[in-house]
Amino acid sequence: MKIFVLNCGSSSIKYQLFDMKKETVLARGRVERIGMDTAVLSHRTTGKEEVKQVASILEHTAAIKKVLAVLTDPKAGAIQSVDEITAVGHRVVSGGEHFSESVLITDEVKTVIKQCFDLAPLHNPPNLMGINAIESILPEVPQVAVFDTAFHSSMPPCAFLYAIPYILYKRYRIRRYGFHGTSHKYVTTRAAQLMKRPVEDLKIISCHLGNGASITAVKGGKSVDTTMGFTPVEGLMMGTRSGDLDPGALLYVMSKESLGVGEANAMLNKHSGLIGVSGISGDMREIEEEMAAGNQRARDAFDMFVYRIRKYIGAYAAAMGGVDAVVFTAGVGENSPAVREQVCRTLECLGIEFDDEKNKNSEKEKEISKPSSKVRVFVIPTNEELVIARDTMEVAARVTESRRERR
Ligand code: ADP
Repeated sequence: MKIFVLNCGSSSIKYQLFDMKKETVLARGRVERIGMDTAVLSHRTTGKEEVKQVASILEHTAAIKKVLAVLTDPKAGAIQSVDEITAVGHRVVSGGEHFSESVLITDEVKTVIKQCFDLAPLHNPPNLMGINAIESILPEVPQVAVFDTAFHSSMPPCAFLYAIPYILYKRYRIRRYGFHGTSHKYVTTRAAQLMKRPVEDLKIISCHLGNGASITAVKGGKSVDTTMGFTPVEGLMMGTRSGDLDPGALLYVMSKESLGVGEANAMLNKHSGLIGVSGISGDMREIEEEMAAGNQRARDAFDMFVYRIRKYIGAYAAAMGGVDAVVFTAGVGENSPAVREQVCRTLECLGIEFDDEKNKNSEKEKEISKPSSKVRVFVIPTNEELVIARDTMEVAARVTESRRERR
């Protein structure tokens, strides 16, 4: 069974083709600068050389046609014909309150994805463009939507409601939805495997630290709280996003600076976080370099970043009544020994015995706590595409089965 996984953004598409027999990646690539005359397709079939093409690619259907052409190219490709693709899985950022699991894409599902445009204005519209493109090119192939929000649908009301007039929840569905669900699901499932214990018995705190960053409390395999909220701006300090902020301070600044909604939005999402505090960059690598060179604002930004992570780990241990494991993943979580060390060093009170040597070694997936540590700490590279491929295979197999039964 071959599953094609798509992650469609407004001007880029990332893709992977999986052979699900052994969960191997047959090919992967991305199209960037969609909408321009100089769009770039970078493709690599496993075991072959990378292919780069520059072309005028004006929209998503044209981009996906190009990808399918290179996938089936006798020299550079991975398959002989698109007929080998059993199903297509799409990353969809927001399913609002409608989906607690991945679903077969139907007209009704597409309508709901559209209704959720307001909740993920940067992501859901291009996600739907990708779905429509596949529908027009491969009309017979089942498509599955895998929602970033679905994993968090298990949060209880005390975690997902905001303490504002309840009517606003009823009227506009203002509540915590959470994001990065697919990543939190993958790394916590993997942590349980590494611990050789059923995920149902474990309390795990998952730290997804990329450009966007969130922490999730996962109890018995289910998300019970997460730091991102109604939008991905809440919670941790991020590359360019503020994370938690007193809404009163925002109102004060808006009034003092006569900021409109758009400007305030840009301030919170693009000019805050690491870049806002340091004035240098939203990239943790540059913050660490400047900090080493003695830049105090880089040091302040770094300290704030790790402090908030520590604070949430403590909060989620309390929320779950304990913690068995902490997992670090995504760009910063996987690649910054300094962030991991600063977060864990003072968490001995929670039962974390940190291992400096293991933290610094070059293994990608590793345990970084000592054998005697009560709480185990892991670095696990995230693999959202694999979760999407697995879910897509499962849903597609169910559909094929029920079609067979109906015949
Ligand atoms: P996204 O949220 O866009 O998927 P990633 O998970 O790829 O982002 O994370 C990208 C971020 O990871 C970069 O902006 C950078 O801050 C950080 N990063 C990558 N490599 C390193 C490193 N070696 N040390 C510290 N931070 C790193």
